Amino acid sequence: MASQLTPTRQNYGMLSDRTRMRMVDRLRQAGIRDERVLAAMYEVPRHLFVDQALATRAYDDVSLPIGHAQTISQPLTVARMTELLIVGRTPGKILEIGTGCGYQTAVLLKTGAQVFSMERLAPLLDKARQHLRNARLVHARLVHGDGHLGLPEAAPFDGIIMTAAAKSIPDALVSQLAEGGKLVMPMGDGEQFLWLIEKTAQGLQKTKLDPVKFVPLLPGRG
Ligand code: SAH
Repeated sequence: MASQLTPTRQNYGMLSDRTRMRMVDRLRQAGIRDERVLAAMYEVPRHLFVDQALATRAYDDVSLPIGHAQTISQPLTVARMTELLIVGRTPGKILEIGTGCGYQTAVLLKTGAQVFSMERLAPLLDKARQHLRNARLVHARLVHGDGHLGLPEAAPFDGIIMTAAAKSIPDALVSQLAEGGKLVMPMGDGEQFLWLIEKTAQGLQKTKLDPVKFVPLLPGRG
């Protein structure tokens, strides 16, 4: 029986399939409703995005280290942010700030989004590229750069998701958001909250959501 196998590189694929199904059940119980998000969370092999030593913990609802003092967010946070970004609409063109290990990028791709993802640390971007290739997801545009500046040449975006915490809303990102677009970001210095910023014809509508814990958004390229 698969559950009695010791996880190795060879059999982990089979084990992870069942583990991922349980993870999706937990996400449903925690209130994730969008079937596209749940399907994407089921389809992306999260263990391919963390170091092999951590692969057996990949589906626990915890954040994990990905090197360079950075972390991959816990599955519920990834699902929640993705749902906020695309609920009730086609995902369209999305800009992610903070590629990290590429897991959130993979989940976005699986929902059908066109994804641009920026990372300030070149070695992490290389790792993410490799992880995405291993998961056979090759159509994201990965960019080495400072996410504070966004990606004007590819704007406007239907959604922007930030996976590092800013102290304030970066102006450049707001200006690169399409009208009707959404920005989902952790914000705060010390105490952080998830924020949903919607760009409407009347201006920005800002909604403060759950308390969260993200690494800080840092200036410049590493
Ligand atoms: N979405 C990632 C989470 C990575 S953690 C994942 O699924 O793994 C946050 C990432 O943001 C780190 O890799 C960090 O290097 C990056 N980061 C921090 N400040 C940044 C900036 N100004 N521009 C781009 N990336 C940044």
